[in-house]
Amino acid sequence: MAAPKLECAKEWLREKRTKALYINGEWKQGHGIEMESINPATGEVIGTYVCADEKDIEEAAKAAREAFDHGPWRTEITNRERGVIMRKLADLIREHLEELATIETMDNGKLFTESCEDVTNVADFFDYYAGWTDKIYGETNPVNGDFFSYTRREPVGVCGQIIPWNYPMDMAGYKLAPALAAGNCLIMKPSSVTSFSLIRLFEIFDESGLLPKGVVNLIVGKGSIGSYITKSPLVDKAAFTGSTSVGKQLVHDSADSNLKTLSLELGGKSANIIFDDAPDMKWAIERSFVAMFSGKGEKCSEPTRLFVQRTCYEEVCNGLVEMAKNWKVGDPFDPESNQGAQVSKEHFDSIMNYIEIGKNEDHAKLLCGGDRNVEGSNANGYFINPTIFYDCTNDMRISREEIFGPVLVVIPFDTEEEAVAMANDSEYGLGSGFWTNDVARTQRVANALQAGMVFINRYGCYDPASPFGGYKQSGWGRECGSRSLELYTKAKAIWYAH
Ligand code: NAP
Ligand code: MG
Repeated sequence: MAAPKLECAKEWLREKRTKALYINGEWKQGHGIEMESINPATGEVIGTYVCADEKDIEEAAKAAREAFDHGPWRTEITNRERGVIMRKLADLIREHLEELATIETMDNGKLFTESCEDVTNVADFFDYYAGWTDKIYGETNPVNGDFFSYTRREPVGVCGQIIPWNYPMDMAGYKLAPALAAGNCLIMKPSSVTSFSLIRLFEIFDESGLLPKGVVNLIVGKGSIGSYITKSPLVDKAAFTGSTSVGKQLVHDSADSNLKTLSLELGGKSANIIFDDAPDMKWAIERSFVAMFSGKGEKCSEPTRLFVQRTCYEEVCNGLVEMAKNWKVGDPFDPESNQGAQVSKEHFDSIMNYIEIGKNEDHAKLLCGGDRNVEGSNANGYFINPTIFYDCTNDMRISREEIFGPVLVVIPFDTEEEAVAMANDSEYGLGSGFWTNDVARTQRVANALQAGMVFINRYGCYDPASPFGGYKQSGWGRECGSRSLELYTKAKAIWYAH
């Protein structure tokens, strides 16, 4: 079993990271402000780093452009060699699993076990896409006339990748691996709230000497710094995971610059429906709870709206309370803990504010939680007890707005039609799930739900091979599997006249 490397991580973090930008194969000092990062489980500063400014972004974009246009990555290095390099990087990530996971937990507040899963996922993404590097096929086109027409899939070019603070490692895997597999060069920007795991990851890339200079570049800084990436005419594509409001801003940035292509993984308010014929009610309640409160509820696809058939409503509500009683909120490094600390003071305040809004809703009743957890050594950390409101309606603010924390709303229903209509009555459409033993219903409801992912009898399954993304304002495009390769390549049709 993996064990935290606390001393090693603390020592690494103690070193002030003045040179925190990785541009053209070198660590450079940014021209932006100095920032501190907080351990949200203790409220203590864990480290500082110097951010980029607009000029640094321009330098990174030029480096990636030069590497793409004239470097060896796309031309001299063969497709299969790219795969070999990516597999070696996957192995290196696994070798550094405990160190990366320790840094992630100290910076983000999530459980150490969750950070270990995240780092493992990054390695898996590198392995998975390493297998694709020599399998990106074109097509021959059955055109009329005396022509030979075929399609090539070529890399997009320079990709700007911007990721949020909830899954820094995981999101890096989702974005870096397919972009590299397809032969692109890139600039990555993590959230300024959690930049350290990415800085360490890029150090590992650098130490490996496996990637030619300029192929991967790292920029750290606040959101406004990220916007220089999305506005840069040197960047051909932007891949963004974050809030719907910033996603919309990126659409403007793209339109106002060079109409770069965009893939957007945005917010969610996902529905989970428990029908009274769930195959195993105890399991349905348990998994619905775990899917909601793992990752401290800071997950875009978490099932935040739980629709429960009235015929099993009481049983489900009682089961949820039972789960909450045995759910331990606390030290993310303690193997007994089930839930860590919310990522920052600012985010903690926003969640507590939503809890107040819920308490003041006319019909919503607090089933459990609703308070800060200050047990044991949690006094200075941003811990919130699992919070469940019941007897809610789908039009309440807590049912419509993304809270992004450990707050669940439970809404009763009578018929399947009613449940599906309420599930679909949302501006988002990322995940969705339902529990039933009725085969005909599995087809009917899965087809009717307006969401990019539908989980039947097990909420929250993810794999590099299965498309991830949302309907409606949850975003554009699908990541994972062959879908990511569509995002990171462009098709060229070639006609040859006989
Ligand atoms: P956010 O405020 O939109 O930030 C996401 C990233 O964009 C961060 O790196 C942020 O930097 C940067 N950013 C902020 N303003 C920007 C701008 N104008 N131009 C370019 N970049 C900018 O989101 P968040 O609050 O960190 O993360 C939570 C959100 O992410 C939730 O809405 C959640 O649903 C969504 N999310 C979606 C998925 C998915 O796959 N669909 C997965 C995870 C999270 P700073 O943080 O440094 O300001
Ligand atoms: Mg932090």
